Amino acid sequence: MKERFIDVPALGAGVARLPVALRILLENVARTQSGAQREASIAAILEWERHGTSEAEIEVQPVRVLMHDTTSTPALVDIAAMRDSLAEHGLDPASLNPVLPVDVSVDHSLAVEAYARPDAAKLNIAHELRRNAERYRFLRWASKSLAGVRIHPPGTGIMHTINLEQLATVVTTEMRGGERWVVPDLMIGTDSHTPMVNGIGVLGWGVGGLEAQTVMFGMPVTLRIPDVIGVKLSGRLAPGALATDIALTVTQRLREIGVSGEFVEFFGPGVSTLTAGDRSVVANMAPEYGASTGYFPIDAATLEYLRATGRDEAAIALVEQYARRTGLWFDPNAAPKYTRVVEIDLSSIGMSVAGPRRPQDRLPYWQTGDALRKAAGAAQARFPIAIAAITSCTNTSDPRLLVAAGLLARRARAAGLSVAQGVKTSLAPGSPAAARYLSRSGLDKDLSALGFDIVGYGCTTCIGNSGPLPEGLDRGERPVAVLSGNRNFPGRVHPDLDLAFIMSPPLVVAFALAGDAARNLRDEPFVAADGARVKLEELWPRDEEIDAATATSAEPADYRTAFELASASPRWHALESQSGARFAWDPKSTILRRPPFASIESGSQLGSYTAYPLMVLGDDITTDHISPASAIPGDSLVADFLVERGEDRNDLNVFASRRGNWEVMLRAAFHNRSLVNALAPNAPVAHTLHVPSGEVIPLSEAAERYRRAGDPVVLVAGHRYGTGSSRDWAAKGQRLLGIRAVLASSFERIHRSNLVGMGILPLRLDGELRVEAGDRIEIDAAPDKLRPRAPIAVTLVRKDGSRQPIPATAAVETQFEVELLRDGGVLPHILLNATRNLNPQGEAA
Ligand code: SF4
Repeated sequence: MKERFIDVPALGAGVARLPVALRILLENVARTQSGAQREASIAAILEWERHGTSEAEIEVQPVRVLMHDTTSTPALVDIAAMRDSLAEHGLDPASLNPVLPVDVSVDHSLAVEAYARPDAAKLNIAHELRRNAERYRFLRWASKSLAGVRIHPPGTGIMHTINLEQLATVVTTEMRGGERWVVPDLMIGTDSHTPMVNGIGVLGWGVGGLEAQTVMFGMPVTLRIPDVIGVKLSGRLAPGALATDIALTVTQRLREIGVSGEFVEFFGPGVSTLTAGDRSVVANMAPEYGASTGYFPIDAATLEYLRATGRDEAAIALVEQYARRTGLWFDPNAAPKYTRVVEIDLSSIGMSVAGPRRPQDRLPYWQTGDALRKAAGAAQARFPIAIAAITSCTNTSDPRLLVAAGLLARRARAAGLSVAQGVKTSLAPGSPAAARYLSRSGLDKDLSALGFDIVGYGCTTCIGNSGPLPEGLDRGERPVAVLSGNRNFPGRVHPDLDLAFIMSPPLVVAFALAGDAARNLRDEPFVAADGARVKLEELWPRDEEIDAATATSAEPADYRTAFELASASPRWHALESQSGARFAWDPKSTILRRPPFASIESGSQLGSYTAYPLMVLGDDITTDHISPASAIPGDSLVADFLVERGEDRNDLNVFASRRGNWEVMLRAAFHNRSLVNALAPNAPVAHTLHVPSGEVIPLSEAAERYRRAGDPVVLVAGHRYGTGSSRDWAAKGQRLLGIRAVLASSFERIHRSNLVGMGILPLRLDGELRVEAGDRIEIDAAPDKLRPRAPIAVTLVRKDGSRQPIPATAAVETQFEVELLRDGGVLPHILLNATRNLNPQGEAA
């Protein structure tokens, strides 16, 4: 190679024993750092090899950022507001721009309104554009006014599929000091399923929107050198089993041993039996198995994938040459050092489903009946399927899985079978290329004959945008969803459904034919219109058949052509939008409002104070509890607020679509019916006890009363606070409620980082904290005393005046996080940096 690169193996004798993911981090610190910091980072990573774990922190510089429309809108709103703040301080607003490429996929807002009709995709995208027009116009402003921001319009696909098929280079080049460097394509995304791209050898993981803003403004990601769990794969997948089944098995196994935010890397001879498509399915579910990555190193299958998706031969050659030269090339016989090793024999994996409430509850596909009866606490024989959705980047990005569903549909159709009455069917591939290969093989017609017409290219049912439930559904019978997604928490798929199974696309079709989620599909045959009995094994396509159909329908050029055509979307480009350096806020808008926290004056929330608990919550509070994404209920206070401002109570859209409006999101905080607040256990949704008055009132009102009285507030919770989606609004909502610290037994990784990003101190309780109404909490967290993982003095002051010290630790991982908390969070930190670096004319100082 003529270009410069870091000779990774030459950095130390132990490099070959490091997990490949850590070799990529090693390359990064060796290239982006200098002097003593560089030496210390390299030494720390090499030292990891001796113990398989480390407490040391390193700073890593990704090369790009990926976002979706719901996480990017608030981030871009923040940038617009920060530009205002700069202008108000006499600085040039246009000087504030991301310094890394930022790709935004508009994929999260597509809903399944129309289905089982050939024009469903067209109707749904029209509905989406109408419903989200103001937000989308704002995104168009951002793409015109902010350097480096690229928006991929509706119809271009799901972010992680776009990443696999279009954005990922695996190995890239960059200019540094006038020289051209070859570097790994290390990236971050504001979505927990970002590690899907680990399936093709790109190291990437999910971060909160706030952490992403830090990175896009040129600051590094600071992380402790992660523990790496090695998953050793042996054997070969048994006939009939699919990549989805591996993903569900890995999820179950790793959840059993408990992985929390660590890196996972796959190794061993079984890896070589998997295609890059298979690997990406398994990598995608990293958050479900509790990991930040599910890394598969680069090998011949990676190159094959790049070729199959139309990548340039010179770029593919560079990937191979670089990976082989720098020790990143996969060796199936190597056994690097890992923190822990789990072994999985691929040949032992059978056709599976997971549910009905958690993705880790895998079971054989024919045992759903007992699982449903147990979960529902009912002896009900039948559980009607309300939704059968082939959905999600997880299982629609690999052509093999969609082809398998099509082949099953073809046989079912030939056997005279049809989908049961009352099942809402949909097919939402991650990429518009899918329409091309399905059509080339004619499988689109077979799927369509069973109601699986393409409803669009976006997240749809996977994110809960499943649209209305089918009419005539008997809700007394506990309807169930079957989907090829990755999450099935109660209410995730649809607010009225609390039972759902995750499965491969062909199994979704099979269950749709049965219409009953409790049906034993192994033993009970389907009955055709003419009375013929057909068993699932007769419908299930053979592996060779799937491979042959995939190979004959595949055309590498499809990927680029379909993407470019969708990117050219005339309806998107026809949306009128502003173009100035500052965004002109519409004072009447109920979608976009300038947020108060994106300003230089935000101020630190650290200090020594005595606080009222605003809420006292239990274990497993998810970010969905803290800041819902689902439909805004017409009978809620949020609805009243919007109706007062001229909105139609019957068309309020989902909470996620209002994340550009802090006034709505403040009222949406903790709007979840299943949340129990020990201060007021029977309170209406999103209410709490205002202790001084003894009244139970809306949370936002209680927060306002405390604020006016000058009383600080904190929040108390149990274990795993903030699990679920990476959602910076969960932290922003708490900041708007005035919460200065969250005291919890443990935190989920991304939410903890988001709390810090919003200037809220996360405190890890080392024992139990039983708070009763009237108790107050004294916290001594002065800015100059705060250190990473330092003990913090916390005292519970009982209503009767008695005092009880509570052992607690600052859940602050790095010195950089301490600085963020001192500045009041990421946004004031970026602004304060900008004011330090710029003079009033906007010139670099
Ligand atoms: S399809 Fe599902 S998992 Fe994939 S990005 Fe969308 S919401 Fe996330």
